[in-house]
Amino acid sequence: MKIAIIGSGYVGLVAAGCFAELEHEVVCVDRDEAKLARLSRGECPIHEEFLPELLKDYVGNRLRFTADLPAAVAASEVVFIAVGTPGSDSGEADLTSVESVAREVARGINDYKVIVEKSTVPVCTAQRLATILEQGGAPRGRFDVVSNPEFLREGSAVCDFLFPDRIVIGSSSARASDKLRAVYAPLTSGAYSMRADAIPAPDGAPLPPPLIQTSTRSAELLKHAANAYLAMRVSFINAVANLCESVGASVEEVCAGLGADSRIGPEFLQPGIGYGGACFPKDLAAFHAVARECGYDFALLDEVKRINEMQRERFLGKVREALWTIKGKRLAVLGLAFKGGTDDIRESPAIFVVEQLLAEGATVVAYDPAAMPRAREVFTELEYAEDAYEAADGADGLLILTDWEEFAALELARLRRALRYPIVVDGRNLFSPERMAEEGFFYHSIGRPQPRAQRALKLRKAS
Ligand code: NAD
Repeated sequence: MKIAIIGSGYVGLVAAGCFAELEHEVVCVDRDEAKLARLSRGECPIHEEFLPELLKDYVGNRLRFTADLPAAVAASEVVFIAVGTPGSDSGEADLTSVESVAREVARGINDYKVIVEKSTVPVCTAQRLATILEQGGAPRGRFDVVSNPEFLREGSAVCDFLFPDRIVIGSSSARASDKLRAVYAPLTSGAYSMRADAIPAPDGAPLPPPLIQTSTRSAELLKHAANAYLAMRVSFINAVANLCESVGASVEEVCAGLGADSRIGPEFLQPGIGYGGACFPKDLAAFHAVARECGYDFALLDEVKRINEMQRERFLGKVREALWTIKGKRLAVLGLAFKGGTDDIRESPAIFVVEQLLAEGATVVAYDPAAMPRAREVFTELEYAEDAYEAADGADGLLILTDWEEFAALELARLRRALRYPIVVDGRNLFSPERMAEEGFFYHSIGRPQPRAQRALKLRKAS
C-alpha cells in the first residue's frame, strides 16, 4: 500500500520505518530541511533501538523523504498525520501544526484518501479536520478522517509498533476502516511475526495483536484516557512510596503484593522522581482541558500533576539531606533523558533536578548514554563526561536520575573509588539498599528503608 506520513519525529519516523518493514511503500514528509537531508542519507536523528537498521534497509527503496506535502498526499492512499501537538499555557493541546498540515493535505487530494490522526489530539478533532479539508477544496466523499492513536513508548518504540498490545481504529466509515485494516494486516494476521527476518517479538506480546474498532471520538478520547491513567499510576505509586518512607515500610514489597493482584498488575508501579517526556504532562493537561470544556471538573488529574511535581521537590530534599549544603559542591549526575532507552529530554524530571542544583550553586557533571547531544544544545552550564566513572571522578556525591540499564550494571567498587565521598542518591531505585551499604555507600533511594549502617550513623549524629 502507498502510505504518506506527515512529521518525521519520534512517532512519524518509527511508523515510517515499521510500515516499510511491513512491505508498504512509504513517503515521509517534514518541514525541517536539515532533518530531511540527514534522513535521506540514511542517518537516524533519534536514539531508538532497531530504527537505524530499518532506515538502513529501506531508505532509498521502500522509504523516501520529502518536504513536498501535497505531492506525497497525491501519491498515497493513506495519509498519517504525526506532527507534534504540544501543550499551550492554558493546558489545551496546541493544534496549529495539525491544522496547517490539514490545509496542505487538502491540496493533494486527487482521489479517495484515508486521512489518519496519528498525533494525539483532543476528542472531536477529526470533525474539525474534515471541515478544514473541505474548506481547502477536497470534496466530501473523496476522503475520510480516521483516528488511529499511537501507544508506542520511546525506548522500545519499534517493538511496540510492530508488536502492539492492541491496534485501535476509530472510524464511522467502513471503506476507511477496511483500508486501515489492510495497512495493519501483516500484524493482525500474524504474518509478520512468522517472517524469518522479523524483529523478534518481546516476551508477552499478544500474537497477533487485537484490533479494536471504535467510533472516531472514542478512539480520540481513549488515547488521552490511557496516558492520564498511566500518569495516575505513576503518581499513585510515588505517593505510596512517600508513605512507606514515613513508616519504614518498603515500597518494593508493597508493589510485589499490589502487582500480584490480577486487577492491578505489576506494570507501571516503579516509584521514582516522577513522569516526564513529551506525552504524559501535556496529554494530562489537554485531557483536563477537554473535560473542562465539556463541563466536567476532572479534579483527579490536578492531583496527579501535583504529586508529580512534588516528587521532584522531595528528591531535591533527599539530595540536600544527603549532602547538607549544595553551593560549591561537585555533583555527578547519571541520566538526563526522561527515561532510559531514549535521547528525549523534553519535560525530563532529570533536567528539572539539574536546573535546580545549578541554581543553588552546584557544579554538575552529567553523563547520559544517548541524551548528551540534545542536552548540549540547551545546556551550556553543564560539564559532560564520557562515562559514569568519569562523571563520578572527584564528585561530592552521585545522583541517578534516569533508569538506563547500563547504570544498573555499573561496577560499584570502581564507582566508590572515583567519588570523593561515597554518597549516592538514587531517584530510580536501581540498586538494593543492602548491597549499596555493603559496598560502602551512603545510599538514599525512593520508598525503601535506608540500610542499617546508615541509620546507625544518623542516630549517632543526631544524639
Ligand atoms: P516530534 O516533535 O518528535 O515530531 C514532530 C515532527 O513533525 C517534527 O519532525 C516536525 O518538524 C514535524 N512537523 C511539524 N509541523 C510540520 C508541518 N507543518 N509539516 C511537516 N512536518 C511538520 O513529535 P512526536 O514525539 O513524534 O509526537 C508526534 C505526535 O504523536 C504528538 O501528538 C504526540 O503526542 C504523539 N505521540 C507521541 C509519542 C511519543 O512517545 N513521542 C507516543 C504516542 C503518541
